[in-house]
Amino acid sequence: MIAPLMPTYNRADLAFERGEGAWLYTADGRRFLDFGAGIATSSLGHGHPHLVAAIAEQAARVMHVSNLYRVPQAERLAARLVENSFADSVFFCNSGAEANEGMVKMIRRAQASTGHGERTEIICFDGAFHGRTLAMLSATGNVKYLSGFGEPVSGFRHVPLNNLNAVRDAIGPRTAGIMIEPIQGESGVNAATIRFLRELRAACDEFGLLLGFDEVQSGMGRTGKLFAHQWADVRPDVVSTAKGIGGGFPLGAILATEAVAQHLTAGSHGTTFGGNPLACAAGNAVLDVLLSDGFLEGVQTRGALLKRELDALVRARPDVFESVRAHETAPGLMQGLRCRVPVAEMQAASLAEGLLVVGAGDDVLRIIPPLVVTDADCREAAARLARAAERVRPQGADAAPAATLANSLAAAS
Ligand SMILES: *Cc1c(COP(=O)(O)O)cnc(C)c1O
Repeated sequence: MIAPLMPTYNRADLAFERGEGAWLYTADGRRFLDFGAGIATSSLGHGHPHLVAAIAEQAARVMHVSNLYRVPQAERLAARLVENSFADSVFFCNSGAEANEGMVKMIRRAQASTGHGERTEIICFDGAFHGRTLAMLSATGNVKYLSGFGEPVSGFRHVPLNNLNAVRDAIGPRTAGIMIEPIQGESGVNAATIRFLRELRAACDEFGLLLGFDEVQSGMGRTGKLFAHQWADVRPDVVSTAKGIGGGFPLGAILATEAVAQHLTAGSHGTTFGGNPLACAAGNAVLDVLLSDGFLEGVQTRGALLKRELDALVRARPDVFESVRAHETAPGLMQGLRCRVPVAEMQAASLAEGLLVVGAGDDVLRIIPPLVVTDADCREAAARLARAAERVRPQGADAAPAATLANSLAAAS
């Protein structure tokens, strides 16, 4: 019989009762070092006193009023995002997929409102992940996710990442814009090169296209700047973000220039929960920390430390690990460890060592800890990964039995 909670996920048989910083605790007292951060979302870690207080205080005052009224918390959060980015205006929603849907709508609407109603097509990239709504499934383009859900939504085409010729070949009279993750997360931490992002900007300018960055995962401080595209010094037209922006509270945002945002006039787009007082109180509390003196620089420093630790791991165990995946100049706290064993095995072995990491495509283990991790947390994670490597069976070897999820849960402490 089907479980009351619909079984759309392969969950580990593990439940956490509480957390503190980068650590999560089960009811029976086992503790785990969380280098997955609920998929790059618990940006301030667990139980961060400032975030907890902001949410509790706002919840006690008023949680939700709808967008029929002014929401000062949303006005303040939008103003702060504008002040710290390329954007002139911000729309709040509830998830990454919803932010991307809005980004695509904005791009199409801006084209239509400036005399180019025929321009509806968005160029996307192989290996992309933009979410699970019907349209974003098509933007993602992964046949595995599309299977059984009917006709794909039209208007999205895919070209290889970091290949300008392929992009230029794909541009036609119906092209409206380009949507790209500066660093692809789900497909295994594949970064667009700085050069490629600059070339995309130039191509968009040449053909009158709009450039949209999906920074749902790479944004909100993950690379040590508020947004990953800032490392390339490229000015986008629209950016979507979500995951880390609420520190675990559901919140998404679309940031846009006035030239684009002005076309999304009153009544043209909306969402009931989007930008409510509670969500924006969480967003403001997260931003308080991210924008505090030296915080983002700290993410850069700890990212570099983590990269050195992971590089050392690859050198020590080339039989288990192939390489470290990260942005070319800014590894930050979004790194991947490409494994020579199936990633599920490596993930299970890490769990057995009390380390939470997230699997990604291409047999890559995603290392995406809370942004508040300490140097000691990073060293501890690397030490646990080294011990996890002892548990897996390198390809072709017949040493230790392969780790499974079941025996790793039994072993964790
Ligand atoms: C997670 C993710 C999404 C989807 O976000 P949801 O909140 O799950 O809808 C979209 N784009 C990227 C780059 C992501 O990492």
